[in-house]
Parts: sequence; C-alpha cells; structure tokens
Amino acid sequence: MPAPAPRYPVWDNHFHLDPAGPWEQAAKDFLHAGGTHVMLVHKPYHEGAGINRSVADHERQFAITLEMAERARTLGLRVAVAVSPHPAEFTSLLSAGVPVEEAEAVHRGALEAAARLVREGKAVAMAEVGRPHWRPVADDIMARANALMEYSFALARDAGCPVQIHAETATPESFADLAAHLKAAGLPAERAVKHYSTPIVDVRVNHGLWPSVLIGKGSAEEALAGGTRFLMETDYMCDVRYPGAVLGPKTVPRRTADLVSKGLMTEEQAWVVHAENPKRVYGVDVAL
Ligand SMILES: [Zn+2]
Repeated sequence: MPAPAPRYPVWDNHFHLDPAGPWEQAAKDFLHAGGTHVMLVHKPYHEGAGINRSVADHERQFAITLEMAERARTLGLRVAVAVSPHPAEFTSLLSAGVPVEEAEAVHRGALEAAARLVREGKAVAMAEVGRPHWRPVADDIMARANALMEYSFALARDAGCPVQIHAETATPESFADLAAHLKAAGLPAERAVKHYSTPIVDVRVNHGLWPSVLIGKGSAEEALAGGTRFLMETDYMCDVRYPGAVLGPKTVPRRTADLVSKGLMTEEQAWVVHAENPKRVYGVDVAL
C-alpha cells in the first residue's frame, strides 16, 4: 500500500550519500517514509582515494557530492547541496606528517573551492565547517583550527551563503564561543547552523545560531517546548561500516509523522520547521 500523501514537506537538514554506500536504498527509504527534501552535505569519500593532500583532491571529492545530488534527484528526492572540507581533514593531514603551514594552505584552498561552488550556484551552503572536538588537540593547533573556521565564515559572508558548523557538543558556552567567532568574521549568527545540535532553541542561549537538532528520542519534544526556530537532522552517514552509529534515513519523516499524529506538533509547526526555516536559512523554496 502506498504511503498516504504527506500534508507538509519533510526536510532532513544534514544527510550524507555515498556512492560506495547504500545511497539508492537510503533515498528511497527516506521518500517512502514521507521525506521530501534533504540537505546533502559533503563528506570525504576516502574509499580508494586516501587522504586529500591537495586542493585538486578536494575538488574531485566535491564533484562526487554534486554527482550524488544529481543521481538522487532522478529518484524524486529534492536535494540542496552543502560543500566544504571537513574540519577533521586538517588534523588528518597533520597526523599524516604534513607540515602545519602546508596543511593550512590546503585547507584554505579547499574552503575557497567550496565557496566558488556556492557562487556558481552548485551549492547553497558551506558544510561541514568547524573545528576538531573528537580528541584533545594542542592549543596551537586549536588556535589554527579556529582561524580556519573564521576564514570559512568570512568566505561564506562574501559568497552570501550560510554555514553548517561541526564542533563540540552544543552548550550555552559553546554557542557563545561560536557566536564570537562569527562576529569576528562578520557572518551574522542567523546564517550559521549548529549541526548535530542539542535542542537549545532559545535565541538568548544559542545567540541566534540555528540549532539543527539531532532527532533522537525526546529531542524534538524538547525543541518544540522552546518554539519552532530549529531544523531537524539525522546525520545519516550512508556507510555500511557504521550501522546504527547514526540515525537511519527514515528518522526525520517518521519522527515528524509520529509527533503530528500524537498531537505534539501541529501541521502548521511542521510547515515552519520543514519549509519556512530552510527557506529562511538557505533561501531554498520548499514546497510539497
Ligand atoms: Zn555529517
């Protein structure tokens, strides 16, 4: 039996597709669950390619994301694209023994290449930008990572696009710190999305950044208690090596339908979260 026609769009704000992963099934699963739109976020496709050592390496990988978007569109998925070198790629180069100045130059060049794709209309945002958080990093390296992050904000400001930030767990303190870096770079806070966010919806606490709430158990309810100024995401990885490490592709449409059917979210609120908010952040028209 076909799924009933949805009465509101469903936007997953952070979704990866990988040509080496079950991308076709993931796209179909999302659509069949009632999903309509995804923000397809670039990730390093290391299969066979190894680590990105040059700007040209990064550009080849960005092309894979653009190609994945086209292939997913042929299935009926509506796809907006975000590109950027991942903040982990800077520290990966250092771990591989690349001198720090060279690693910085490659990362800066890759950020510039990503901003170019935005200017050319091939992407609507830069993501994932940010800084390392997965293991302790020396102060000097963190300072350089913060400088690269500010550079990405400045490029986004000049390209007129928003960013999705990959950083440590979103807390009132980390939101305040990210807001300070945004201010230093001249990118308004409302042009910045905190990816993988906790449900901190109060703008006095998140400083005007958009929380893209990881939609695990209970987080949507918590976000809705603070209003509708948030986005929903799974951070679906499309990588069979990490089953269950992240939420599956059906999660945002299913969770939304569940909230609406239980009366915890009205259809009007679903429209705000899934259509009006993406339009406000990315300028993308989201229609059924
Ligand atoms: Zn991601």
